[in-house]
This record gives sequence, structure tokens and C-alpha cells, in this order.
Amino acid sequence: MIENACRMCGRLLDQPSDPLSPDCGGDCWGCIGEIEAVGGYNPSLRAVRAEIAAGIRKPIADLPDDGGLDDDDWDDGS
Ligand SMILES: [Zn+2]
Repeated sequence: MIENACRMCGRLLDQPSDPLSPDCGGDCWGCIGEIEAVGGYNPSLRAVRAEIAAGIRKPIADLPDDGGLDDDDWDDGS
């Protein structure tokens, strides 16, 4: 078990050479960004779409055009 790795995909976290590796609470942005984007959180959706356009991220089949959720609408459980 690698300590500093995403719990979902095993990617090493916080690697300067990997734009999808920022640590999002134990999981990488690559995983979290996709979940949030597919879940309809617009800020993540915009970021993920830009990453796909830039070739950083693999295309996601079921990405919504507009998630319908902005910052104020997101229920983060708090
Ligand atoms: Zn991951």
C-alpha cells in the first residue's frame, strides 16, 4: 500500500508533473473532478471540460452540458 496515493485509482498524489494528482482528501483530482462534474457541479464541470480539451484528461462519456449546480447549490454535507 502506497501511502500517498489516490484511494480510488492509485495515482500518486501531489505530483508536480501530473495535473490530475492534487490531493482531494485522499483521492486525486482526476477521480474527484470526474465525480463532481458528472454529478453536475459546474465549477468542476468547467475545469474538467477544459482539461479534456487540453488533452490532460480522458474524455468522459456522460458529462452533462450544464450540471445545473453552482457553488451556492452544492450540498457538501456541511
Ligand atoms: Zn484517483
